[in-house]
Amino acid sequence: MKFELIQLPYAPDALEPVISKQTIELHHGKHLQTYVNNLNKLIPGTQFENASLESIVANSDGTIFNNAGQVLNHNLYFTQFSPDGGSKPSGKLAEAINKTWGSFENFQQQFNEKGTELFGSGWVWLAKDKNGSLTIAKEANGSNPIVHGLTPILGFDVWEHAYYLNYQNCRADHLNELWKIIDWNVIDQRY
Ligand code: MN
Repeated sequence: MKFELIQLPYAPDALEPVISKQTIELHHGKHLQTYVNNLNKLIPGTQFENASLESIVANSDGTIFNNAGQVLNHNLYFTQFSPDGGSKPSGKLAEAINKTWGSFENFQQQFNEKGTELFGSGWVWLAKDKNGSLTIAKEANGSNPIVHGLTPILGFDVWEHAYYLNYQNCRADHLNELWKIIDWNVIDQRY
């Protein structure tokens, strides 16, 4: 087993009511575990056998890309939350957000809009280029900003499995709630 299921840095019920224990257990314990298992079955005997996750996502396609992308996406996703989260970015990231979108609140609004309008399954990301310039990137299915040479900083999962048990069809409501559990210490460090 090359890749392993990432450990949650909080208890499964710690993010309630924003993300329920049942959703965490299914999303992390079942969906992500399946992506990890699939990837481990797919890569032996290929050029990706000893590659890093980021390198596989940047250079693969087809089912290897889909599963590697979803492992990377969810590793970033599940480690960006905290029951004590929900404040705001600080330092250089806060400056860059203000420079790009005028204010944190305007950035949040734009981010939520992109996540809401994304058709079907996918992700919305805050990403940076090699100069530190920020962008909001919509990615379909299991893709990640790495495929465009960008570094992912913050990602919201808009697949229905991420919210349907508690929010049903109301994706926008779910995205709006997620800001309450973002651990900006983690996000600031990714920038
Ligand atoms: Mn997911």
